Amino acid sequence: MAEQSPIGSAIELVDVVKEYVSHGEVVQAVKGVTLDIAEGEFFSLLGPSGCGKTTTMRMIAGFEEPSKGVVRLHGRDVTDVPPNKRDVNMVFQSYALFPHMSVWDNVAFGLKQKKTPQDELRRRVGEMLEIVDLTGREKRRPRELSGGQQQRVALARALVNRPRALLLDEPLGALDLKLRQAMQLELKRIQREVGITFVYVTHDQSEALTMSDRIAVMKDGLVEQLATPHEIYEKPATTFVAGFIGTSNLLTGTAAGGVLKVGGGRVLVPGHDGEVTVTVRPEKIVLSAEEPEGELSALPGTVAEVVYLGTANSYTVRLSDDTEMTVFQQNSHDATVTAERGDSVWLSWQAQYSYVIEGR
Ligand code: ADP
Ligand code: MG
Repeated sequence: MAEQSPIGSAIELVDVVKEYVSHGEVVQAVKGVTLDIAEGEFFSLLGPSGCGKTTTMRMIAGFEEPSKGVVRLHGRDVTDVPPNKRDVNMVFQSYALFPHMSVWDNVAFGLKQKKTPQDELRRRVGEMLEIVDLTGREKRRPRELSGGQQQRVALARALVNRPRALLLDEPLGALDLKLRQAMQLELKRIQREVGITFVYVTHDQSEALTMSDRIAVMKDGLVEQLATPHEIYEKPATTFVAGFIGTSNLLTGTAAGGVLKVGGGRVLVPGHDGEVTVTVRPEKIVLSAEEPEGELSALPGTVAEVVYLGTANSYTVRLSDDTEMTVFQQNSHDATVTAERGDSVWLSWQAQYSYVIEGR
């Protein structure tokens, strides 16, 4: 009997490996990925270029066969099932709309192919155009639309077929920053409205943090951490994750009695002894001119750089051992510190904001 998967699983990968032979050498694009994506989840694969995101997606869609491992969709083993027999649809960065067809005909294309009755077709295409906010633009050709609108047509064209899951591989990559940010919120809204599973590939950490229920951070064909955006940001599993997601400060050394002595100061790591790597986020650190009082981590240093970012100032502070720390100070009405280059300052933060990385 086939192994049963837990109820509510949309997509499962079990120890999936993908090897290519390139110029006589075996390349492992994916080295053993295990994932379990829930029905209705907005799930992202995040990682630098070449880490195996697209290959993983193509195995979910069925365009690539795994060298090893199992792919299950909605509990069914589909490892050997061709793409058109899987209940998923894929949207790519180059969305390749039919240029000579109107918006309406682009979206209706799949339903026409399936010989969907006219009235049902009209209703479903109309509904979908409403969801992606293109009602009134039915007669336009793709070239008469903005990049963001074209991307929404591509989305409607995929969603109108009512796949149980939609796979999106860097779909906003071609758009400029402002439009990309607007589309991120749109995508999230659309996903909530249609209620289907979205698997989203991106190398952009802020994009993944904005939209996802959970994120798998990938590196070199493996998943480094799989967790919620909050957990990935606050509790990175490895130094790679800490460095890839946002800006982080890393301090390494030998702790004794829950205190790490580094850079001429102290970092509180309650409950830890021996070799530790600690991360603290730049926005958790407070700058002061005098040594702070109380049970805080505190490090003295010299301001090496100040960058005005509008809503915040970013300070680079050099410690006595030459470690550079980044500090963000919000430009709020009660901002008290305005340190300048060359100033001697103290960095401090509460014990709860030191996070000891357990992984590599
Ligand atoms: P990403 O989407 O994260 O940028 P890919 O999944 O496209 O990464 O690629 C992962 C690795 O596998 C890369 O080193 C890439 O060069 C390699 N690769 C991908 N497709 C092929 C292929 N068809 N033949 C050989 N190597 C490939
Ligand atoms: Mg890719």
